[in-house]
Amino acid sequence: MSDLEQTLSIIKPDAVQRNLDLQIKEIFVNNGFKIVREKKIQITKSEAEQFYKVHETKPFYSDLCNYLSSGPIVVMILEKNGAVLANREIMGATNPSEAKEGTIRKKFGISIDKNSVHGSDSVENAKIEINFFFKD
Ligand code: UDP
Ligand code: MG
Repeated sequence: MSDLEQTLSIIKPDAVQRNLDLQIKEIFVNNGFKIVREKKIQITKSEAEQFYKVHETKPFYSDLCNYLSSGPIVVMILEKNGAVLANREIMGATNPSEAKEGTIRKKFGISIDKNSVHGSDSVENAKIEINFFFKD
C-alpha cells in the first residue's frame, strides 16, 4: 500500500470558464481523493511566473503564464494513498489528444495549452506547490 500523500491540483481557466469545476471535483472524489482545501482565485502574471518557474526557459513559458493568470482558477489540496501519481493518471497526458480514454484531459481538454488541469509531478514538488497557494 502506498503512503498517504497530498498533491496540488489546479482547475485551469479554460475549465472554470466552461463551468466544469464541479464535474472535475466529482471525478476526484469518485476516485477516492479527499479535497482537503480548495479556493477559487485569480493570480497575477507574476505569480504565474513564480509558480511555473521550472519552465522559464521553455518557448511556451510566457503564453503559459498569461494563460494561467487570464481568469479564475480553482486550487485544491488532494489527499489519497499515492495521490501524486494517482492524480497524474486521472489527469491524463499533457496533450489532450494523447490522453487516455476516461481521463480528465481527454474528456475536457481543448489543446496542449488549454488542458483543463494541473497536477504536481512529484511528492517534493507537491509540497512546494501546496505551500505556494496555502501558506498558513
Ligand atoms: N504546455 C504548453 N505547450 C507545451 C507543453 C506544455 O502550453 O508544448 C503547457 C501545458 O498547459 C502544460 C504546462 O505547460 O500543462 C506545463 O507543462 P508540463 O510539461 O509540466 O505538463 P503537465 O505537467 O501539466 O502535464
Ligand atoms: Mg508539469
